[in-house]
Amino acid sequence: MTWSTPPGSGPLADAHAQLSAAVAHLGYTDGIHQMLATPRREMLVSVPLRRDDGSIAVYSGFRVQHNFSRGPAKGGLRYSTAVDLDEVRALAMWMTWKCALVDVPYGGAKGGVAIDPRAHSHAELERVTRRYTSEILPIIGPEMDIPAPDFGTSEREMAWIMDTYSASVGHTVPGCVTGKPVSLGGSYGRAGATSRGVAHIAALAMASRGIDPKAASAAIQGFGKVGLGAARYLAGMGVTIRAVSDVDGAVFAHEGLDIARLVAHVERTGSVVGFDGGDPFEPRGVLTCDVDVVVPAAVEGVLTADNAGDVRASIVVEGANGPTTEAADAILAQSGVLVVPDILANAGGVVVSYFEWAQANQAYQWSERDVNDRLEERMERAWRDVSEYAAVHELSLRAAATALAVRRVSEAHQLRGLYP
Ligand code: NAD
Repeated sequence: MTWSTPPGSGPLADAHAQLSAAVAHLGYTDGIHQMLATPRREMLVSVPLRRDDGSIAVYSGFRVQHNFSRGPAKGGLRYSTAVDLDEVRALAMWMTWKCALVDVPYGGAKGGVAIDPRAHSHAELERVTRRYTSEILPIIGPEMDIPAPDFGTSEREMAWIMDTYSASVGHTVPGCVTGKPVSLGGSYGRAGATSRGVAHIAALAMASRGIDPKAASAAIQGFGKVGLGAARYLAGMGVTIRAVSDVDGAVFAHEGLDIARLVAHVERTGSVVGFDGGDPFEPRGVLTCDVDVVVPAAVEGVLTADNAGDVRASIVVEGANGPTTEAADAILAQSGVLVVPDILANAGGVVVSYFEWAQANQAYQWSERDVNDRLEERMERAWRDVSEYAAVHELSLRAAATALAVRRVSEAHQLRGLYP
């Protein structure tokens, strides 16, 4: 009987469709396909919280380890009410391909808690993070699975995870998380690594289309760790940032937003809304406004069959994971839009997470310059590998990136063999 991927729509269906295309291109058997598609380990936990007012709330927590054939599992921890098991499965699978593509010695994982972090106090988030960590403790650790920040979490949560893990084993283990504060053994350059990589890849994509960054414009959806940093780095290259959005709204200025002033406004108010250096804007319009480069840097599934045909940019650089649905991907390809896939575009974060883990294991700290130079080198190598493979096999960048990554993971499976 032919094995088939689960039906449905959403990030998991998109991830499976991408894997199926790669498997077909590589000519793998159903058995190999099924091994590559199936998570190695999944843990579902309940996370009870005593709220500040004394009441009790219970949240669902997840950790999915999709694959660890190439090394320990690696992936972020997400806090969002939209988190569910299928989303975490998709994100974990993408982490496997991302780690293989940039050739760091990890498999892929992802975690999540279905909670709105903005609706909780600092103390409540600390209790939730520590309880979630203690629940997943049996399957994490520097040689097993190493969490990092993602949507809704930051270096603050990583410090709490490190402390909870370390307290449980009786000694400090800096290698059990990445993306932690530099003063706790975090790496210089980690905080900005994802966005630095996004901007670097955007520059390479612009060069491939003969676009001069100083004459180019961009729009960015999401103004958190990835979007804000991408805006900064792109503006630093001379790109005019015309529009940005966050969960509360959007702001637009045809002549360009002053990113330093916008960041100061966001630090003061918590949102891009109300910024006096631009006009309020329809948030959905950010993806389809008249710019050269669009950077979705918020959530999955925002470029769909409904709006992909309206995209006016010639380049989409996926800062977020899974922002383009399968149907939108086909429409964008048809209209000649160059889509740089998430597993390539936003891999800078996991590259520097790997550097952080290596530094923790060596008890040695590299300089920021060293980290940034090595990051650029890895991103350029991955861009070259993917572009060349795409050209030789006449594939989209996404199909080429997925095929290259899947081939590397599959090689690891085959070399290790099937036990017993
Ligand atoms: P974050 O929590 O720091 O920021 C998220 C931003 O998106 C916020 O500005 C929020 O207001 C905004 N947002 C939320 N929903 C939105 C919506 N519907 N429309 C517009 N804006 C919306 O998260 P982050 O770390 O920047 O992650 C963003 C994306 O990048 C996620 O897909 C994440 O998986 C991916 N990513 C993050 C990293 C990392 O190192 N942080 C690495 C690789 C990929």
